Amino acid sequence: MSKIQSIRGMNDILPEQTPLWQYVERIGAQLLASYGYQEIRFPILEQTELFKRSIGEVTDIVEKEMYTFEDRNGDSLTLRPEGTASCVRACEQNGLLFNQTQRLWYTGPMFRHERPQKGRLRQFHQIGVEAFGMSGPDIDAELILLTARLWRALGVIDHVVLELNSIGSAAARANYKAALVVYLQQFFEQLDADSQRRLLTNPLRILDSKDENTRAILINAPSLSDYLDDESKQHFQQLRDLLDGAGVRYMINPALVRGLDYYGKTVFEWTTDKLGAQATVCAGGRYDGLVEQLGGKATPAVGFGMGIERLCLLLEACNAVPTDIVASPQVYIVAVGARAEAQAVILAEKLRDQLPLLKLITHCGGGSFKSQFKKADKSGAQLALILGDQEVESASINIKWLRDEQSEQQTIAQPQLAEFLAAALHSKTQ
Ligand code: ATP
Ligand code: MG
Repeated sequence: MSKIQSIRGMNDILPEQTPLWQYVERIGAQLLASYGYQEIRFPILEQTELFKRSIGEVTDIVEKEMYTFEDRNGDSLTLRPEGTASCVRACEQNGLLFNQTQRLWYTGPMFRHERPQKGRLRQFHQIGVEAFGMSGPDIDAELILLTARLWRALGVIDHVVLELNSIGSAAARANYKAALVVYLQQFFEQLDADSQRRLLTNPLRILDSKDENTRAILINAPSLSDYLDDESKQHFQQLRDLLDGAGVRYMINPALVRGLDYYGKTVFEWTTDKLGAQATVCAGGRYDGLVEQLGGKATPAVGFGMGIERLCLLLEACNAVPTDIVASPQVYIVAVGARAEAQAVILAEKLRDQLPLLKLITHCGGGSFKSQFKKADKSGAQLALILGDQEVESASINIKWLRDEQSEQQTIAQPQLAEFLAAALHSKTQ
């Protein structure tokens, strides 16, 4: 019978990869806690309308990337393509935004029907961060400084650059859009098909077209920065001053507009040249209009999402994966013979009572001394504890260091074992 395969673009994360994932997630969570951010969890499925209303009907995500289906009641549901809309929904529904600020983060899978390739999946994972109720550039700066600190903690700061732009108020963007459309219409025939379509639906997205002809036409296009409203200009300048003061380097990218409709004022991306076309590891911006757009009271907000797959790839590409993140067992118990096997189970449980942090594997499934010993070695354990008939008889245990050729085997009395292990593994259990 043919074997059932996973869905294309939805990867298994195997035991050999999970230590790196756990490391990235752990460092991220520690850092976020240190800045006073709290974790929030919300469902993976939402009503389709939530994403249509927030991300925008004519964005790539909503037009062609969402996993949308009818459930048994005939309701249209969508697997979340990103977390911001769900986070706003959850906060509103639970009264978290009323007269208060919130610093929140979440992590988990997101779903987009894209063409799978390295760093681009259909189920991918993000750490997302959202800050609500603060309108000034100080919180924008905080989010950027937090990400910069994360890159330093992960050892990749030298391989990422910060791209920054301001896309102004909704009114400023509307004025600019009109001017851009007038300009591009003169060259309509020379634009690529996607851009021709976007001219009518979402002209700002043409700015980040990859098509060469379109790019050439864009060189003389009106610039969004000339259309910025005074408030956005000032907000942007203050943000730049804060970043300059904190010593964070950035590049102003006037073509950075982001693919989601809800952004305004600050937008930013951290990009790398280590991952080919999937260059953005972290992206975000300000979205002061979204809460109101989703039915809440107007609430300023700013946030970002980072792709965990891309971060893991980046750490690998930069040789920044620490060598000590694999949690091998410390001790492997080998037991040969029925009496020894029974005693091993009890002994192991006693050790776990006495040394709760000890990483201990008890061999299961019997087998010869030789085959069990091979497994002990392969497990990566430091020590093998060996129980045979003789040891059972004398309530002793035989100890062998597996990673140290020099040290001899030794036999000790079972009641002394916990004390022995605590001392022997002391430096390694910290
Ligand atoms: P891209 O331009 O690469 O398509 P995006 O602008 O669509 O990215 P966002 O919606 O801003 O991405 O998501 C934030 C981050 O999530 C991205 O910077 C990236 O690290 C990650 N990400 C987005 N889509 C995918 C995907 N399909 N597979 C893996 N990671 C992704
Ligand atoms: Mg995308």
